[in-house]
Amino acid sequence: MIPAKFDYARPGSLDEAIRALASGGDDTKVIAGGQSLLPLLRMRLAYPDKLIDLGGLSELRGVRDAGEALEIGALTTHYDLTRDELIRAHCGLIAQAAETIADPAVRHRGTIGGALAHADPAGDLPAVITALDATLVARGPSGERQLKPADFFSDYLTTSLEPGEILTTVRVPKLDGWGYRYEKFNVTAQAWAVVGVAAIARRSNGHVAEARIGLTNMGSVPIRAAAAEAAAAGAQASAASLAAAAARADEGTSPPSDLRAAADYRRHLARVLTGRALAAAAGAY
Ligand SMILES: Cc1cc2nc3c(=O)[nH]c(=O)nc-3n(C[C@H](O)[C@H](O)[C@H](O)COP(=O)(O)OP(=O)(O)OC[C@H]3O[C@@H](n4cnc5c(N)ncnc54)[C@H](O)[C@@H]3O)c2cc1C
Repeated sequence: MIPAKFDYARPGSLDEAIRALASGGDDTKVIAGGQSLLPLLRMRLAYPDKLIDLGGLSELRGVRDAGEALEIGALTTHYDLTRDELIRAHCGLIAQAAETIADPAVRHRGTIGGALAHADPAGDLPAVITALDATLVARGPSGERQLKPADFFSDYLTTSLEPGEILTTVRVPKLDGWGYRYEKFNVTAQAWAVVGVAAIARRSNGHVAEARIGLTNMGSVPIRAAAAEAAAAGAQASAASLAAAAARADEGTSPPSDLRAAADYRRHLARVLTGRALAAAAGAY
């Protein structure tokens, strides 16, 4: 279908974009790669009066070394995440998960900022960002805010971004000394996760010193598998020991039942995939 009519602006700087968004009112939206928003416009599930195209903001593109962290600009595409040398060297979990998103056409257009702001619980990067306990930086007319994933993802397709705010940067810790793995189960024809598990683990003397696990599509927001994380801490870094921790991966989750899977099956997948992801992250294979 053809989208409803809208005005269009393509600002050349972040300040200009924030001013345009602030002056536009409730029916103004930003567009980045368009991979989630354009289908909604074409189906007329969204019909904003005005679109602010962030595509001209080169300041929001690319990855920067910030000491113990990497700063990823919101307009960095999924494709760039799979290729960037800093990401591959210091936070390979992001590259690994981005490689599983959709197909090359979507990966070349879709951005990390758009994927996080869209907040689809079936999206891959929200759970990865949750496992990494990243910091999301937003700018609006009243300045800059830094948000943790648990505060940023507030509900199904909903974030705590204020009207007029633009997500500018995702700050992720370097994973030096950590193992990692993103495990995902999807139906053959589509890359959307039925369930996904992002795990990172730090190993010491043959044991897991610390583990963090983010779950995709196990509720209305990406969540940490807190019970499994606690059970993995101190466990032997073997597949058998970590299986006991993985058996607790679905505790505290509320997965949906839909055409692709029943909630119980999703719980089963979460336990199985957590076992695989944890074992791989802890170097147990
Ligand atoms: C066929 C298909 C298959 C897909 N498969 C997968 C998959 O397997 N896994 C997966 O994770 N994703 C998948 N996606 C979604 C894809 O990852 C999108 O790129 C992503 O969800 C949105 O990124 P975008 O840059 O295109 O955002 P847009 O579509 O431009 O925007 C999405 C939303 O975010 C807002 N927004 C965008 N950028 C910002 C910003 N910087 N600050 C504030 N708000 C912002 C927009 O206003 C809009 O509401 C798929 C998409 C398609 C079309």
